[in-house]
Amino acid sequence: MKRGGWLRRKTPLRSKTRMRPETAGRRGLTPEQITATEQLARSVCMVRRGAIMLSQNGKRTAKPQWWGRCEWCNGEEFLQWCHIRGRGACRALVCDPLNAFVACSRCHGGRWHHSTPIDPAILGEDPRPKFLRSIRTPAQIEYLYAKHDRRDPVLQAVGNLAELERLTNGHAERAMWPEHWLTIAALVGRPDLVARVVV
Ligand SMILES: [Zn+2]
Repeated sequence: MKRGGWLRRKTPLRSKTRMRPETAGRRGLTPEQITATEQLARSVCMVRRGAIMLSQNGKRTAKPQWWGRCEWCNGEEFLQWCHIRGRGACRALVCDPLNAFVACSRCHGGRWHHSTPIDPAILGEDPRPKFLRSIRTPAQIEYLYAKHDRRDPVLQAVGNLAELERLTNGHAERAMWPEHWLTIAALVGRPDLVARVVV
C-alpha cells in the first residue's frame, strides 16, 4: 500500500498502554471491589426502606437476600435492587442510592422493565412516570437524567458507607456480608472497620 495521500492516517495510533474499555468501565476497581461497592449501595437502599437481610441458614446464596416492603406495591416480599437509570444508560449512577429503589420481582421485572408498552386499554397509562414522581422530587429526577460519568467510585463508597452507618446507628457491618465489609474497609482506607466484621 502506498504511504501518504488520502489514505494517510490523520490521528495517532492508540497507545497500547491506554486503559482498555472493560477496565475503564470498571473505573479502576477490581471485580471484588465492584461487587462490594454495589452491595454497599444495595444495602443503603434496602435499609432505608426498613428491609431486613435474611440469614443464610448455612446455605450460601449468590448475594444477600433482603425481605421487606416493595416501594411500588407495598407488598411484603423478597426485594430486588432496581435502577432508574440502568447500568447501560449510566454506569456511574449504579451505586448512587438516588438512582435506585427496592421492589418485589413482579414490580421490578413486570412493571418497571416491561419491554413493550403496556396496552393502555388494559392497564391504563404507563405507570412508571407516576411511580417515579412518587418516590423522587423533580430536582432528583433531573439530577438522574444528567450525566455523571466522572464520579469517583471510592468517594461514592465513602458516602454510601457514611449513609449506611447513619441508617443503622453505627452498625453498618450488620447489613453486609463479611467479605464485602472487609473489601470496603480496605477500599476506603479504614482499617478500624476490620475489627467490626460480623463472623
Ligand atoms: Zn411490588
